[in-house]
Amino acid sequence: MTPEGPPLPPAALRLRIDHAALAGNWRVLDGMSGAARAGAAIKADCYGLGAAQAVPVLAAAGCRDWFVAHWQEAAEAARIVPAAGIAVLHGPINDAEAAYARALGVRPVLNSLAQVKRWLAAGGGPCDLMVDTGMNRLGLPLAEIGDPAVAQLEIETCLSHLASADEDSAQNVEQLARFRAVVAAVPARRYSLANSAGIALGADYAFDLTRPGLALYGGVPRGELADSIAQVAYPEAAVIQVRDLAPGDSVGYNATFTASTAMRVGVIAVGYADGYLRCWSGKGHVLWQGQRLPVLGRVSMDMTIVDLSTAKNCGEGDWLGLDYALPEAAALTALSQYELLTAMGRRFARST
Ligand SMILES: *Cc1c(COP(=O)(O)O)cnc(C)c1O
Repeated sequence: MTPEGPPLPPAALRLRIDHAALAGNWRVLDGMSGAARAGAAIKADCYGLGAAQAVPVLAAAGCRDWFVAHWQEAAEAARIVPAAGIAVLHGPINDAEAAYARALGVRPVLNSLAQVKRWLAAGGGPCDLMVDTGMNRLGLPLAEIGDPAVAQLEIETCLSHLASADEDSAQNVEQLARFRAVVAAVPARRYSLANSAGIALGADYAFDLTRPGLALYGGVPRGELADSIAQVAYPEAAVIQVRDLAPGDSVGYNATFTASTAMRVGVIAVGYADGYLRCWSGKGHVLWQGQRLPVLGRVSMDMTIVDLSTAKNCGEGDWLGLDYALPEAAALTALSQYELLTAMGRRFARST
């Protein structure tokens, strides 16, 4: 925001979101959820895509159930969608957070017996209950689900979270069996276990509500999803300088690339401060008019140098796409698909 001063020129770094792909991914995951409905994990600003832009697209596609992590994210989401459909995964760790949930009208996800009692003491109301079936991160231990305080809750969604759904792990079957015991013991309006990868594990894992995040935004956590999930996030950086190199010239910090012939290079306005981390150095590509242009040398904080030798018409001000096909990018960089999305920094212009 510029309360004073001249209007800003357009950003040299932007994140394009394919709205049709985002809506299509939700429909695919909702369809794969069978009789269950798909909700959406929208924490971390919709995994970096921008909630202000992505949530209305998901709502228009038919999504009604929203999962955020922090209370601050709940406030932001409640400006876009009805508060009653928002669940806050981190749970109320003090009385102020319990009171805030009631004031805003969102559902806390209660993660311990202490949180259950805190919610009841605050006056209660519709809530979600997370039960731990083996991840040992958040959630009520199985041994405590029979506590009388739990029976006093008005549970909208009783949930648990899979630790290894992206692998063919025995832990999935174990957690499923434990969750079935939870369903039999804890009265709730709905039950929910599967994240994106869990949806691909099959109908047994879907219960009443699924909670995809990554796959909505174009991530492919399991091969079963590879053909039906489409890329959503297209980061793009502008060329801010073009230079000609002579044989023997090196580029960038520590001179890790040296030209063996005369070549034309471009400097683009993205660097590790934007989440384009140094793991792309010397091995990433950028996209221009159907060509893949190599990243040369080290990625710096605000800039990256790319080979424009075969892109003769590309000049200052032109936009190059970062190669963000997520499964391939993750394999190349050793970053997870989640990290690739959520690392994209604040300097990316996200339209609303
Ligand atoms: C983040 C999260 C999800 C979404 O997981 P993905 O792997 O991104 O689909 C679902 N449930 C809970 C509890 C989460 O924390």
